[in-house]
Amino acid sequence: MTEIRVYDLHTHSSYSDGQLPPAELVARAAASGVEVLALTDHDTTAGLGEARAAAGARGIEVVDGVEISVTWGGRTVHIVGLQIDPAQPELQQGLARLREFREWRADEIGRRLCKAGIEGATEGARRLARQGLVSRTHFAQFLVAAGYAPDVRRVFKRFLVHGKPGHVPGQWATLADAVRWIRAAGGQAVIAHPARYRLTSTHLHKLLGEFRDAGGAGLEVVCGSHSRDDALRFAHLAGRFGLLASAGSDYHGPENYYMDLGPLPPLPEGCLPVWRSWPTAPPSEAGLPEVASVLG
Ligand code: AMP
Ligand code: MN
Ligand code: MN
Ligand code: MN
Repeated sequence: MTEIRVYDLHTHSSYSDGQLPPAELVARAAASGVEVLALTDHDTTAGLGEARAAAGARGIEVVDGVEISVTWGGRTVHIVGLQIDPAQPELQQGLARLREFREWRADEIGRRLCKAGIEGATEGARRLARQGLVSRTHFAQFLVAAGYAPDVRRVFKRFLVHGKPGHVPGQWATLADAVRWIRAAGGQAVIAHPARYRLTSTHLHKLLGEFRDAGGAGLEVVCGSHSRDDALRFAHLAGRFGLLASAGSDYHGPENYYMDLGPLPPLPEGCLPVWRSWPTAPPSEAGLPEVASVLG
C-alpha cells in the first residue's frame, strides 16, 4: 500500500461521557495526526454537528457515528454505527428510547446508592454530565470527588458493577434492533471492543454469528483496550465470520483511562478495513474485493 490514512473510528465527546466538547476533540485529534475521526457518543448523535463544523478548516475528516448500548445474553455489548445519517427517524427514535432508560436508571442508581448511605449521587452525576446524557462514568466521577474511592476504575468495582450497591440491571436495545437502526440510517454496524466482554469462545462465536446474520458489518480489531494479541485474535475471527475490521481508540478525554489520541497500531495483515468502500478511502484501500469472495 502506498498511502495509508490515519483512522480513529471510536471517540467520545462531552455529549456523552467524554471530557472534551466536540470541537476540542476534533482539534486535538487533528493536532495528534488523526486524519479521519468518527465521533461515536453513547446513544446520542447530538455532538456531530459541532464536530463537523470544527473539522472544516483543520484538514481532518469527521465520520458521523454513534455507540449504541445493547443487552445481549444478559450482558451489555456496545455496537458502533459508522457513516450513519443522524437525521434518520428510526435511528433517532431508538436512541431516544435508550436515553429515556438512562434517565430512569440514573434516578434508580441514586436511590440504590442512597440506601447504601451515599446521598446526592444522581444530582451530582447530572451536574457533571452538563449538557450531555448521564452515564455511569459521571456517577463514578461524583463518587471519586466525594471521596468514596481513589479513582474511577476502583469506584466501578466497588459501586457500579453487577452485585454492587449502585448496580441497576436493565434492558438496553436488542442486538438486532441496534443493527437495524444503523442500517436504516445507511451506516455500518461494528462490534465495539470485543475483548472487553470476556466471553467464552462459545458465546463469542454465537455473538459474532448472530451479529453477522442480523446485517452487522464489522468488528473493532484494533482498539484502545486491546492488546496486540487481542488484535490478532479478533482479526482472525473477523475473517472467519466475514466481518470487516475497524480501528478506534475509544478516547474519553485527556484525564481518562485507556489511551491518548494519535495514530493507532495498524490493522493486522489480511484484515479488510471497514473504510475500504468509503468514498474518501485512498485508491490503494478502495475497491478491494468483497469479504465473501475473499473467503470463497
Ligand atoms: P453506561 O453506558 O452509563 O453504563 O456507562 C458505561 C461507560 O462507563 C463505558 O462507556 C465506559 O466509559 C465506562 N466504564 C465502564 N466500565 C468501566 C470500568 N470498569 N472502569 C472505568 N470506566 C468504565
Ligand atoms: Mn464511555
Ligand atoms: Mn463502549
Ligand atoms: Mn466507547
